[in-house]
Amino acid sequence: MYIGAVTFLIDWPYFSNYITDGLLHEMFKTVVKNCCVKTIHVKELVTTLARLDRVTAAHPTWIQGVEYKQLLARFVENTLFYNSNDDNVSANNLNIIWHALHAEGTYIKTFATQLCSKDQFPNNTGALICLLGLLTTEYGNSPHYASLWTVVSTSQMRVASIKPPHGNEVRGRVSCTCVNCKSLVQFLRSQQMTMHLKARVSDRHLLSYSAKPFNLKSQTLEHGMPRTLVLTKTAEMIQSQKDAHTKAVNSCRKLLQLKPAGKDAVALEALVGTASLTLPASSTSTTQTSTGVKNEIIELD
Ligand SMILES: [Zn+2]
Repeated sequence: MYIGAVTFLIDWPYFSNYITDGLLHEMFKTVVKNCCVKTIHVKELVTTLARLDRVTAAHPTWIQGVEYKQLLARFVENTLFYNSNDDNVSANNLNIIWHALHAEGTYIKTFATQLCSKDQFPNNTGALICLLGLLTTEYGNSPHYASLWTVVSTSQMRVASIKPPHGNEVRGRVSCTCVNCKSLVQFLRSQQMTMHLKARVSDRHLLSYSAKPFNLKSQTLEHGMPRTLVLTKTAEMIQSQKDAHTKAVNSCRKLLQLKPAGKDAVALEALVGTASLTLPASSTSTTQTSTGVKNEIIELD
């Protein structure tokens, strides 16, 4: 019955001349009831929710049913369920849920608060920017939209306001303060591409461990005692740190266009205004198509 009813609801406009509202309502309730069953994973229900939304748009009172509320409650459990590797897919899922929750009203605040939680950053930032793009026309005046925009903008401004690394410089923290790790930090901050450490095996292992987050190329020279560990910066990792900055600036530009009605964005305007002077012209066009910011936030010492 569940699949049949869903299929029916998809084709509903086609059949609407032959079906009474009473029968349609019964089918709607059947679908909602079946979607409340916990054995169906909530992620699989997002497209069904979009279909139900088409029916409730024509029959707005139907969303007042207790079972429909129960169904919506399922979507609020964990917003990270709807993540995909594709930011646009994640944003589309969240947009469908946002729309249904906003129309009914009970859970939209909880949902928006979850989207603003620190679990979303930095990995889900790109999807949230896409989501703001989908929401802006209809919900630009909503306080929930404004909260989400503020949190996303703050996170992106934090990344974009840090100057990109200069030349071969590498950013990031090393928590150990031993003499070898101090040399590592010096090397990372320098323009040197390679670092040598002639030391016993335990010291070489400790340094390799500290260097791991930086994705340096690591090699042990098989001659001399003790052996020598050689760490090398790669062009890719240096570039990826610079790209993270460029992406954050592009995101800030996009976010400025998505500013909620009546919101003050002086800091964002100032940041985008300054950054635009230093970025190549081509980076502006990538803002339109790629809003994905998946790079980790790079911290300054
Ligand atoms: Zn150390």
